[in-house]
Amino acid sequence: MTANAKVAFQNEPRTSINLFGRFDDLGHHGLPARLGIMGGTFDPIHIGHLACAEQAREAFNLDAVIFIPTNIPVFKQDRKVTSAADRLEMCKLAVESNPAFDVSALEIERGGETYAVDTLRELRAFYPENVELFFITGADAVAHITRWKESSEVAHLAQFIAVTRPGFSLTAEKKEEIEQGGLFKVHYLEATSLAISSSDLRERVSKSKSIRYLTMQRVRDYILTKGLYQEGVE
Ligand code: ATP
Ligand code: MG
Repeated sequence: MTANAKVAFQNEPRTSINLFGRFDDLGHHGLPARLGIMGGTFDPIHIGHLACAEQAREAFNLDAVIFIPTNIPVFKQDRKVTSAADRLEMCKLAVESNPAFDVSALEIERGGETYAVDTLRELRAFYPENVELFFITGADAVAHITRWKESSEVAHLAQFIAVTRPGFSLTAEKKEEIEQGGLFKVHYLEATSLAISSSDLRERVSKSKSIRYLTMQRVRDYILTKGLYQEGVE
């Protein structure tokens, strides 16, 4: 996309948040709705992400969960991230069997460094007020939300669902620090945890080890067909 085309694109009113349009109607008929947002680099997406989103959906009666892969993750600039197109495609392949899940290219289309506050603002402007936004994170990611850009605006735009993740415990003091005296509304979910990470999948592929059952079969096929992650972990 040229610089001019990008400016034109950003100035156009957005008519659809979702590539498939599956959940664009949420709340538009006056019915209250609860929308989960699962942000991440998804390099690659794995069953830890999927189980985390599904259990959050179930526990908090979410009508839908949209997975939004980051464009340039601000906290991961120390390593080479797989192309946005590949990460987006893997997310689509991973969620297609769940009618309550979808993927949005919102952050990728916006371009540049990704900040949750921009995404939440776009979602808030697009959906009517009767749609509540719930940002789903693992216990490791929620620990950083107070350091996100415009964190008090983030706290105002969405509630958080923090899902347990093996290796990352949240002490009472840490929770207090995250919530910042009630500024952030965080719901904690004790989920059936999976000690799986994208880093581990990348490393396994680079060592020619199996990733079968650690991600959806179609994602595994995509990784192997495209030869992703073969050059080793940086
Ligand atoms: P990496 O190892 O590259 O950091 P990751 O597995 O942590 O990858 P991310 O894309 O960084 O995946 O994470 C996206 C979101 O999913 C974060 O909120 C993270 O906490 C959450 N998450 C990832 N894996 C799990 C898991 N196994 N259980 C619970 N939450 C998870
Ligand atoms: Mg991570």
